[in-house]
Amino acid sequence: MLFKAVSQNNRALAIWWDLCPGLFLAAFLSAVVKTLNACAAIWLSARFLTELAGPQNPRTLIALALAQLLSSAVLTLLCALGDRLKDYEADCAACLYNKIYMEKMLSLDYPRAHSQSTCELYAQIMQNDTWSALGIREAFRLFELSVAGAAKILAGAVLTFPLFLSPIPQPKGILAILDHPACPFLLAAVMAAIALLSSACAQKAQDYWTRHAARTRFGNRLADFYITAGRDRKRALDMRIYDQQKVLRHLYVKDHNPFGPSSQIARQAKGPMGLWAALSQSASAVLTALVSLYVCLKAWAGAFGPGSVTLYIGSTAYLFQGISQLSGALGRMTANISFLETSFRFLDLPNTMYQGGLTTEKRRDGQYEIEFRDVSFRYPGAREYALSHVTMTFPIGSRLAVVGMNGSGKTTFIKLLCRLCDPTEGQILLNGIDIRKYRYDDYMDLFSVVFQDFKLFSFPLGENVSGSLPLDPHQADQCLKKAGFLTWDTALPQGLSTPLFSDLDDRGVELSGGEAQKIAIARALYKDAPFVILDEPTAALDPLAEAEVYEKFGQITEAKTAVCISHRLSSCRFCHKIIVFDGGSIVQVGTHEQLVHDKEQSGNMSR
Ligand code: ADP
Repeated sequence: MLFKAVSQNNRALAIWWDLCPGLFLAAFLSAVVKTLNACAAIWLSARFLTELAGPQNPRTLIALALAQLLSSAVLTLLCALGDRLKDYEADCAACLYNKIYMEKMLSLDYPRAHSQSTCELYAQIMQNDTWSALGIREAFRLFELSVAGAAKILAGAVLTFPLFLSPIPQPKGILAILDHPACPFLLAAVMAAIALLSSACAQKAQDYWTRHAARTRFGNRLADFYITAGRDRKRALDMRIYDQQKVLRHLYVKDHNPFGPSSQIARQAKGPMGLWAALSQSASAVLTALVSLYVCLKAWAGAFGPGSVTLYIGSTAYLFQGISQLSGALGRMTANISFLETSFRFLDLPNTMYQGGLTTEKRRDGQYEIEFRDVSFRYPGAREYALSHVTMTFPIGSRLAVVGMNGSGKTTFIKLLCRLCDPTEGQILLNGIDIRKYRYDDYMDLFSVVFQDFKLFSFPLGENVSGSLPLDPHQADQCLKKAGFLTWDTALPQGLSTPLFSDLDDRGVELSGGEAQKIAIARALYKDAPFVILDEPTAALDPLAEAEVYEKFGQITEAKTAVCISHRLSSCRFCHKIIVFDGGSIVQVGTHEQLVHDKEQSGNMSR
C-alpha cells in the first residue's frame, strides 16, 4: 500500500515539477531556514542557561544574548522571505495548475469529453480539489510536510546525540541503566512507535471524512449553490420576485445539509472522530513526559547541568515532531491514493479521435471540397440513428442552407462536418481524403462557426472579435460592420476597447441577444476561414434585423463556402442550394424556387 502511495504521489509530484520547478526549491529552502531558526533558538537558550547556572561570565552572557537576538532576527527574516517565495511560487503554480484539467478536457474526443461518465469524473475531481484540496494538490502539500519533517528529524537527531555521550560520573544502582548502550535505540524505537500510534489515531479520525466523501461532496455543492445563487445574474429576477432565498435557506440550513448540527458528520465529529484526534495528541504528550523523565534523571545523576536539560528536552521534542510529521505525511499519502486515482483516471482517458497527421494545404483560392459519402451517425448509447445515409458535396464558394424541423439532424450534420464526432458509417472527405487523416487543428482552421449557443467573454469588444488571433483594429471594425454591428462607434464610446458585460469591469456594457449574435458573426468573419457555418444565425434577432442579416448574407460571407442552418425555408432565399433534412435523412435538395414550387405542387396534389 505504501509503495503504491509513494509511486502515485511521485507521479503527482512530476506534474507539479513540470508546472513549476521553483516551487520545490522554495519549499526546500523554507524548510531548511525554519529548521535552522528553531535549532538556533533551542541551542542558544540552552547555552545561555548553562552559563547562567555555571560560571556566569558577563561577557559570555552578553555575547550569547546578542547571538540569540541576532540569529533570531536574521533567521526569522529569512523564514518570512522563504515563506513569501514559497507563496509566490505557489500562486504561479496555482494559475498553471488549472490548465492541466482544462487542456485535457479540450484535447479529449468531443463525444467522450461530454459523456455523462467524463462529466461525473470531472465534477468529482473538481469537488475533491476545490473543497478539500485532495488529490494532486494534496500531493505537493505532503511533499512539503515530508521535507519539513525530514529536516526536523535530522536537526533534532544532531542536537539530541550528545545526550547519549554524556555519561553519569559515578553511576549507582538502577541509574546505571540510563547509560546502557541500548538507550538511544530504545528511545528512538519508543519515539517511532508513539509517532506511528499517534498518526494511526489521526488517520482513524481522517478516515471518517474519507468515508463521508460522497456526502461532503454533496454538502459542498449545496454550499456552493447557496452561496452563488444570490449573485447569479440569470437567477436574480426569479430570486427577487419569488423570494427564493427563503426556500434555499430552508434547504441549506435544515433539510439536506450534511454538515448541519444534527447530521451524521456533526454527530461523529463530536464523538469518535474527536476521540481519535484527542488520542493522537495525547500520545505525543506521553512521549514528552517519558523523554523529560529520562533527561531529568540523567541530570539529577550528574551527567549534565540544567542548560543541557533544556537542550535535550527541546531537541527530542523537535525530533519527535519531525517523526510525527513524516509518518503523518505517509499516512495521508495512503489516504490520498483514491483521490489521485480519480485524477489520473481522467488524465489517462484515451484520445483516439484526433490522431491524423496530414496537413491541409493552405490554399489561397479557398478551393476546398467536402463530400459526405453515405454517412450515418448514431450518438453513443442511442438506439436510433441521428443521421442516416447522407450523401452530398459542398459546391465550392456557394451558399448552402440546411433546413429541417427540430430534431431532424441539422446540428448533428454540422458536428460531423467539424469533426466534433466521427461518422458511425460512411466517410467525410476533404479534397478526396478522409478527414480523419488530417491533423485536427489544421482541419479546424478551415471553419468559422457561429453556434446557436455561442458564448462571448467578459473581455473588450476587440478581443471578442479577434478571438485567439492578434487584434487588427481595422479588420475587426470591418467584420463588425459586415455583421451589422453598426452602432458600436456611437453606443460604445471606447470602441473596440469597450469591455463587454460587467462581470470583470464596472464600465462593461450589457448586450442584447441580437447584438451579441452580431459580435459572434463578426468573430467568425475575423477568422477568415474558407467555410463559414451559421447555426440559426438569426435566432436572437428581431424580424427587421433578421431580414437584414439574410439580405446581406452574400456580402457577409463573400466568396466563402457558407452553410446556414435554419428551420424556416423562407429564410433561405439567399442561398444557392437548400438541403432539407427530415428524420436524419436528406429528403429534398434544390434552389429556393424549386423547393417552393415543389411545396406548392404537393399542396395542389393533396387538394
Ligand atoms: P436539429 O439540429 O435538427 O434540431 P439534432 O442534430 O440536434 O437536430 O438532433 C438529431 C437527433 O439526434 C435528435 O433525435 C436528437 O434527439 C438526437 N441527439 C442530438 N444530440 C444528441 C446526443 N448528444 N445524444 C443522443 N442523441 C442526440
